[in-house]
Amino acid sequence: MKWIQKSEEPEALRNWKQQANADWTPRWDVLRASEKEAVHDSLLREQGYICCYCGQRISRDTSHIEHLKPRTSYPELALEYSNMLASCQGNSETPPPLPVHCGHKKKWWYDEKLMVSPLDKNCGDFFTYTESGEIRPGANQEKKAAAETTINKIGLNIPKLIAARKKALEGILDDWESLTDEDKKTLMSGFEQLNSAGEYAEFCAAIVYIIKQLLP
Ligand SMILES: [Zn+2]
Repeated sequence: MKWIQKSEEPEALRNWKQQANADWTPRWDVLRASEKEAVHDSLLREQGYICCYCGQRISRDTSHIEHLKPRTSYPELALEYSNMLASCQGNSETPPPLPVHCGHKKKWWYDEKLMVSPLDKNCGDFFTYTESGEIRPGANQEKKAAAETTINKIGLNIPKLIAARKKALEGILDDWESLTDEDKKTLMSGFEQLNSAGEYAEFCAAIVYIIKQLLP
């Protein structure tokens, strides 16, 4: 999981909400397509076009707006940009492809203590990765319960995602021995940054974790 640094609320959303009056209250279910698209695009940009939970590549067509704190339990946060993320597996209107993971699997779940949030600057410290693509709770006992619960509730360790992470890691590990120490460090900082198109590499959190383990 990679920390998401939230940007400003998009102007389109703010302006729409400001139209509230005695006869009309802005609600999520009446948010118009144009404002929704502005929000969606802003989320994709601030996440570097990777899923807020699993880190796979997403676009507007292959992702949906996800509420970290679900609308069912936190209706007052339904239009709060700070509560919105972009998650993989298509929009919310059509059934997601199987196996379900990330936002569609999480659905209405949220737990103040047990959900590791990508909006927490330290979210990466909760998890470790293996070269075979698995995600596991870190060694810290205090963080272990939250890490385990989040992995299960979001489906982060399902075979499909393990295989995808493994494939991303293989691309790095295959050439590892041929690199100089300097090359290795440059490679890692590349995965920590956005590319010229404003994108993070898929599964960059796992890749950076593994590279850090291997660095001399
Ligand atoms: Zn995902």
